Amino acid sequence: MTNKELADLIFPNAKDINYYEELYPERNLKEGTVVTRFAPSPTGFMHLGNLLQVFLADAMIRQTDGVFFLRIEDTDTERIVDGAVDLIESSLDYFGFKPNEGFDIGGNYGPYKQSDRKEIYEAYAKYLIENDKAYPCFCSKEEIEETRKIQEASKERIGYYGSFATCRNLPLEEAAERIKKGDPYISRLKSYGDFTKKHYFTDEIKGELEYFENDMDIPIIKSDGLPTYHFAHAVDDHLMHTTHVIRGDEWVSSLPLHLDLFNSLGFKPPKYCHIAPLTKVDEETGNIRKLSKRKDPELNLSYFRENGIPKEAIKLYLSIISNTNFEEWYLANPDKDYTEFEFNFSKCPVGGTLFDLVKLDSVAKIYISKMKAEDIYNGLLDFTNEYDKEFYEIAKNNKDYLIDLLNIERNVERPRKDLGSYKDVKKEFWYMFDELFKKKDNPYKDADLSKYDLDDIKDYITNVYDSNLTQEEWFNNLKEWVSGKGYATNRKEYKENPDAFKGDVTLFCEGLRVMLTTNTSSPNLYDLLKIYGKDKLIERSKLL
Ligand code: GLU
Repeated sequence: MTNKELADLIFPNAKDINYYEELYPERNLKEGTVVTRFAPSPTGFMHLGNLLQVFLADAMIRQTDGVFFLRIEDTDTERIVDGAVDLIESSLDYFGFKPNEGFDIGGNYGPYKQSDRKEIYEAYAKYLIENDKAYPCFCSKEEIEETRKIQEASKERIGYYGSFATCRNLPLEEAAERIKKGDPYISRLKSYGDFTKKHYFTDEIKGELEYFENDMDIPIIKSDGLPTYHFAHAVDDHLMHTTHVIRGDEWVSSLPLHLDLFNSLGFKPPKYCHIAPLTKVDEETGNIRKLSKRKDPELNLSYFRENGIPKEAIKLYLSIISNTNFEEWYLANPDKDYTEFEFNFSKCPVGGTLFDLVKLDSVAKIYISKMKAEDIYNGLLDFTNEYDKEFYEIAKNNKDYLIDLLNIERNVERPRKDLGSYKDVKKEFWYMFDELFKKKDNPYKDADLSKYDLDDIKDYITNVYDSNLTQEEWFNNLKEWVSGKGYATNRKEYKENPDAFKGDVTLFCEGLRVMLTTNTSSPNLYDLLKIYGKDKLIERSKLL
């Protein structure tokens, strides 16, 4: 019996690989053009690492007029979750990342879902068996587990290799007999690697990496007929002509295996760009650690959406963390868009990428401070429509009023930086909406009202306050009135003779501020009073 006959027995209907080689010809692209992909498994979880990967892919294709495609890696059927593909697509869409080809998009290099590519993997597995580079393996889970225990006990490397690879040297006839008999089996790579041989490989991000040849006969086709990640990666990225594989650092350890697969299949490997793990400073220990799915809600992309952080601010932050020279460039070019920066793999952090929510918040605050009030308003509508229906209704019915509020201290040289998210709009301005104010049990419970002469405040609002004055006129008028009521009109005067006054004008203004906002700090008081309006102010003062 020959290898070819065994291969025919295992994959009777598989085509010759030349069929696929011709079907998916080289892409006709200029030298230096990046072809890359996002290849998530539909597990129902989109994380920050995915976003960073897509962000870099997007930057590279923008800069090289390249191709970015979406490939769904669904060969691990146990991990597939309903609705996960929708989540992947809607997340890309939400952040404005548009693949040029892919699942649900189309393109000449599809299908773009691995479970639809079964016959392609069979063709390449068959090719390997024909060429004595793969073989059927009949070992049961129990036998593999037994081998693992033996290896553990004798402190040997764990895995299916060398003398532990019991099916590797099965006579072809015997293998064929067992297949005909209906014994369950998988297909394994027949590795010719030597684990003692050291090589060097250049990762586009990590630089030169030392590695030892792979000698593991890893499964390539599982018992369900679907390929393993490793095998599918080699076949797909070859046929789809990927030039750059941008993926998480956790795959670095599989690199020797992937190079072995590419070599066995006779393919040229792509360039690899392994992104450093995302880290944070642990709140409890103060040590830097990897972001964890269990401990850190921010690892899940939905966190940013639910918290109303503008996606553009997130992209700005991703720019900062993905290229070490970005921030310096941005400081020198504060009015430029991040897309004008030239991203480079060689400037990506290598060890770990610190993802700091405090820094993200400050980046978002700066970003929002430069936004037009109308744009914030529109983002707010989108956000509240999804996550805060009550405030959505309020925002929808009070467009001009809200835009006036958002414009307080906005179009000035040093705009206010108090909004880090759309969520913060409600946090900052809730008191300007009576329906929200009335809902509070005791709105003034945290305010120390005993500091202020409440009658003076009510008197001023009812009988003196005039919303038609300019800020300067308003303040002069207020000072004059409080002076008649026994307040000092400046701090110095008050400090020199505190017993002679009820307080100073600042204290009076603080009382007004607390009346309207319940807080001692707020955006510009003159603007707030004017936007809220005299009649409503009178009503509010009665609540004191
Ligand atoms: N399906 C793999 C994952 O989700 C893809 C890794 C890759 O990009 O090659 O981790």
